Amino acid sequence: MKVGFIGLGRMGRPMASNLQRKGFSVTGFDLNEHGKAALVEVGGTGAATAADAAKDADVIFTMLPNSKDVLSVVENDIAPVAKKGAIIVDMSTIDPLVTDEIAALAAEKGFRFADAPVGRLAHHADRGECLFMVGATDEVFAEITPLLEAMGTTIHHCGPVGAGMRMKVVNNYLAVAAAQLNAETLTLSTRFGLDLEKTIEVLNGTTANNGHLKTGFPVKVLAGDIEPGFQIDLAHKDLGLALSAASAMKVPLSMGSAARECLQLARARGFGGKDFSGLLDAWCALADVEPPRLKKS
Ligand code: NAD
Repeated sequence: MKVGFIGLGRMGRPMASNLQRKGFSVTGFDLNEHGKAALVEVGGTGAATAADAAKDADVIFTMLPNSKDVLSVVENDIAPVAKKGAIIVDMSTIDPLVTDEIAALAAEKGFRFADAPVGRLAHHADRGECLFMVGATDEVFAEITPLLEAMGTTIHHCGPVGAGMRMKVVNNYLAVAAAQLNAETLTLSTRFGLDLEKTIEVLNGTTANNGHLKTGFPVKVLAGDIEPGFQIDLAHKDLGLALSAASAMKVPLSMGSAARECLQLARARGFGGKDFSGLLDAWCALADVEPPRLKKS
């Protein structure tokens, strides 16, 4: 099976490489040469254009930053050249209404489509341990499952086309807003002069317990590493997706609105390209608190 892969950034790079390593023939493209080099290193092919990556493929993955990038690549690069009946799988996190638009465009041009956005973090993608939230027909889901299994360990069929992206927006609403809450919590405990290791131990033993405190922050910001990972700019985008979708359906998201403005503050302070656990460092800077770090074991 031939695979086209467009978008070889922090996530797409290891995902495409894992597909290639597990026996699929992957041709990839990114605007940035660095992504292609990683794929070529494991035996894949670097394409000169996105259209070249798409033209012979049975399945074409997109892993791009925003709605407008995915719409443009599908409309201008993939649709004019891809084989009829090919399956386009968008794994980016985008506006679900744009997903619906892309699915309609794909159907009109004779392609099949699935949305399969990714849960978990970049280091899971490195290890082939992604979680997928898939929106697809049963037939398309069955066909793409072996490919998703080459990149991940957990695959949820959430419903028809569009259901995967809606699930992802719901997931990231909670995940990103919770990261901001953790940043504020640890800024406060540091200002109180509380011991960081003891703070984490206590919070992980009560209902304050959450994934950021248990596994996310300790390997990133609290270890002194705020390189992405998952950028604050992308997290800010994801809260925006949730807020606009909720607004269209008259669902108030009060915590999310506040969290998005906090992420905006972090971006205004120059943290937009940093890992979203770096919200802690942004908050410490605002509160004039020295950012806490775990003792090296
Ligand atoms: P990234 O910025 O590292 O990578 C995006 C890549 O797309 C870049 O390399 C860029 O050069 C490339 N690109 C942009 N426009 C292009 C075009 N027209 N043609 C070809 N390449 C193009 O971002 P990422 O962290 O890999 O995230 C990708 C998507 O996955 C985003 O929608 C993000 O929200 C989502 N996501 C990220 C994570 C994470 O932890 N990083 C986790 C789950 C989902």
